[in-house]
Amino acid sequence: MDSPSIIIAVDGHSSCGKSAVAKDIARVLGLTYIDTGAMYRAVTLYALRNGIISDNGIDSKAMQSALNKIDIQLIKNRETSKVETFLNGENVEDEIRTLRVSNNVSALSTLAFVRKHLVELQQKMGEIGGVILDGRDIGTVVFPNADLKLFMTASPEIRAKRRYLEMQEKGENVSFEDILENVKKRDHIDSTRIESPLKKAEDALFLDNSAMTREEQLNWTLARLKEIGVDIPA
Ligand code: C5P
Repeated sequence: MDSPSIIIAVDGHSSCGKSAVAKDIARVLGLTYIDTGAMYRAVTLYALRNGIISDNGIDSKAMQSALNKIDIQLIKNRETSKVETFLNGENVEDEIRTLRVSNNVSALSTLAFVRKHLVELQQKMGEIGGVILDGRDIGTVVFPNADLKLFMTASPEIRAKRRYLEMQEKGENVSFEDILENVKKRDHIDSTRIESPLKKAEDALFLDNSAMTREEQLNWTLARLKEIGVDIPA
């Protein structure tokens, strides 16, 4: 199979390394990486900045009418080759990863009209193929006919530890306990929501990476792609 036309879906729990696998596969096969979580995070940031999310919760009427004012672009930085998120033209890549956004994104992601809007956008971005997307509903809703579907997980403690180290590296002052709580809470909201909950697609391959290095995960996924006939560059 030609990688230019392929669609790969990577779903799974929060902070389990979906994006690391997706980025590595994208690099090796020359695919476009679409971080759908970044899109939900960008909408959340917009809502926080504009008082749509407040101590009183989410003003869903205001959110609905704001959707057409929100432009989200995922653009590859030519110098670093990293894909960065732009909200109405502003690079918000760092701000969408803060705990403030993480603590609000899952509640916002339960709203059916937000999901419908972003799913349509994701389908448009990916329809020509040559893409790998990561998220919660890629294999079940966004691209149910994807060529390869992965469902990834790892224990909550391991995921929180990875996220903690990542945030420390970035200089963000957060406690391990707060991150663990956030990871567990997002798992719960994502898996129990009515609208396209996080669940393994029947035909997805299960990957528990608790005891795997990043390289092992890449090689494991490349082996699965080879099995379905994808040409893997030497
Ligand atoms: O992938 P990431 O952890 O950045 O996603 C942030 C949140 O966005 C998730 O916890 C989930 O609530 C929501 N999300 C979603 N559907 C997706 C991607 C993310 O509901 N496809």
